[in-house]
Amino acid sequence: MSSIVGFPRIGQNRELKKALEAFWAGKCSQSDLENVAKDLRKKHWEAQKHLDYVCVNDFSYYDNILDLAYALGAKPQRFKDLSGLEGYFAMARGHAKGVACEMTKWFNTNYHYVVPELSQTDVYQAQIQTLKDQYNEAKALGYTPKISLIGLFTFFGLSKIAQGDPKAIFAKLKSAYLDLIDEIAKLDLEVVIEFSEPIFVRGWHNDTPQAQCVYDKQAIKEVYESIAQKGIKTIVTTFFEHSNELTEVLLQTSIYGIGLDFIAGAKNTQSLGAIAASNKVLFAGLIDGRNIWVADLESKLKTLESITAQIPKERVVITTSCSLLHVPFGKDDESKMDSQILSWISFAKEKLEELRALEDLFKNGVNGESKAFFEANKAINNARKTSEKTNNKAVRDRVSKNTLKSRDVAFKDRIKIQRDELGYPDLATTTIGSFPQTPELRALRLGYKKGEISKDAYEAGIKEYIQDCVKFQEEIDLDVLVHGEPERNDMVEYFGEQLEGFVFSQNGWVQSYGSRCVKPPIIFGDVARPKAMTLDWILYAQSLTKKIMKGMLTGPVTILNWSFVRDDMTRSQVCEQIALAIADEIDDLQKGGVKIIQVDEAAFKEGYPLRAENIKEYERWALECFKVSTAVAKANTQIHTHMCYSEFNDIIKTIEAMDADVISIETARSGNELLKVFKEVGYTHEVGPGVYDIHSPRIPSTQEIIDQIKALLEVLPKEQLWINPDCGLKTRKWEEVKPSLKNMVEAVKAVRGTLK
Ligand code: GLN
Ligand code: ZN
Repeated sequence: MSSIVGFPRIGQNRELKKALEAFWAGKCSQSDLENVAKDLRKKHWEAQKHLDYVCVNDFSYYDNILDLAYALGAKPQRFKDLSGLEGYFAMARGHAKGVACEMTKWFNTNYHYVVPELSQTDVYQAQIQTLKDQYNEAKALGYTPKISLIGLFTFFGLSKIAQGDPKAIFAKLKSAYLDLIDEIAKLDLEVVIEFSEPIFVRGWHNDTPQAQCVYDKQAIKEVYESIAQKGIKTIVTTFFEHSNELTEVLLQTSIYGIGLDFIAGAKNTQSLGAIAASNKVLFAGLIDGRNIWVADLESKLKTLESITAQIPKERVVITTSCSLLHVPFGKDDESKMDSQILSWISFAKEKLEELRALEDLFKNGVNGESKAFFEANKAINNARKTSEKTNNKAVRDRVSKNTLKSRDVAFKDRIKIQRDELGYPDLATTTIGSFPQTPELRALRLGYKKGEISKDAYEAGIKEYIQDCVKFQEEIDLDVLVHGEPERNDMVEYFGEQLEGFVFSQNGWVQSYGSRCVKPPIIFGDVARPKAMTLDWILYAQSLTKKIMKGMLTGPVTILNWSFVRDDMTRSQVCEQIALAIADEIDDLQKGGVKIIQVDEAAFKEGYPLRAENIKEYERWALECFKVSTAVAKANTQIHTHMCYSEFNDIIKTIEAMDADVISIETARSGNELLKVFKEVGYTHEVGPGVYDIHSPRIPSTQEIIDQIKALLEVLPKEQLWINPDCGLKTRKWEEVKPSLKNMVEAVKAVRGTLK
């Protein structure tokens, strides 16, 4: 048998995105939107028709966690009197009645969910209509539905307790959740529900207020036992890691099946014996739902054989490692990619084919109906393994021979040289790199990409933008200037497009949140930098001013974490190659006279493993790669890094070990509380905490920023502090950026005056 955990819902051509945005803009009606959604579901079920079940309720207008919050009536007080789609989108996007719920990353993926807010005064009530409609839609089309539902423990564990006692809230929520299940049970004689419980992969945890309820063995057993007792075919599925501790608990209930990820959670094999000894069906996640490479069916068959050496064949269902939400829809529309590389790639639709073939091969052998598919698959995998495109000897040699792994002068000596040469004052002012990306600028880049604008005209346009940026920064008297990043569409794509070993799809969109999609670069081969990527623009910008111009790069860990990465090497090996490419760029910049270079590691934290026992290893190589990329910097070249968050408590030692001369971080929204950890650990390197929040169009007053700087000075001394806004100026308008930065510089000057 075969099934999947979930399918992408955005549509082959991002139909859902377009419909949602039209609906929000008042350009289409609710029923237009509903019709688009219905068509998409139909199309997506059609693609799954050869599976034993089609997924129902994996569809969502915005997010599945939000769907469940809504189905349980878990709405924040401020939206209580809103209903229907209005109330639903209010939680996702905000409303005149109040701000949106927070959004955060779904485990270690790039998908964001809406964080439910729970409170002791809430009254929860199950609401099944939406789910019921979709179920009946699938039935009417003749499919066997399997309902995808977020498990109670994961839902509760990921929520935010706005007010009250977690235990009391959990009890109320549980009762509404079980009511919802009762309603679902009425849909059919034998309903199948697959409960997603990825929170179980964290092992036993006690680091949140909810943890005592989430990791309560007794509660887990009780809830799933009672669901199974309702006559529901109950499958509990975990993904993104192994869940051995919790699998053991689940096996003590009378649920029907257990779904495990054998890609990201290879250690799940340790539970096979226990599953064999139970009567449970194993939903074996063998097709990778997180990455885009063609599966190696021969090796999948071997894995299946080792599984069925323990668990009888009839108790094994072949499935995906997680929902296919994390990969693009299909590759039908890719006409520009190198055809061989394209043949190595498998998006969601192609993965369904792999599942179909794997099931048949497993059942009927390699000489059955799927023989041709199997042979072709073997050829593709062999070609990929031996292709020159994936093996660049020069790169491999360079990585293995590289000895330049950290800067040769210690920070305390470097910083003296830098301060001397660069001559910047205490509380030096700068920005994080980008300036407003205007519609004209976007049109310029797009026109150039499409060949409608000549190279000369494009370059003239970019230069003009840089001139304006420099002029403005000089006018307001910032200390360290930036060129504004007008040539960049995206901080990873810009580098990926210039590096060997990367390809880009035309239509490989993956949902990031709501209607927002990203098109991650694909790293297929060894990474090399054929020529300088940023040098000309930075030198041009520097030529316009006597002030210091900061070079701007994206770090190796961030490039890795925001790409689809080849799976025939370890992530750390790929990251090392990227690190050396970035090192070359740093070297070119410093040889060109650039004195300060910022290496952004916006996504450093996102790569952290889900299980505590793997964190050390990630930190080891991620840190090493960052250091390899910056080791080439001479003592008098100042290296900055930047991270888009403020919570450093757990990772401060790693941040310190990165050995960047200056780190800019996001603090405006969290105040200086979180900064204290820098003081507590005796952090000596320089720090630039964001002094105003750029996420809002509001212009901060000089006084407000003065107060903020004074608050920072209570935590860190003036010699250690840089003053900058949070990151993301590219998302704002010039009318907002100009007065805000002007006020920031004025505030710094006022504070400096009082310090003398
Ligand atoms: N230098 C980048 C910018 O200012 C950093 C972006 C980020 O931190 N995400 O846009
Ligand atoms: Zn940032």
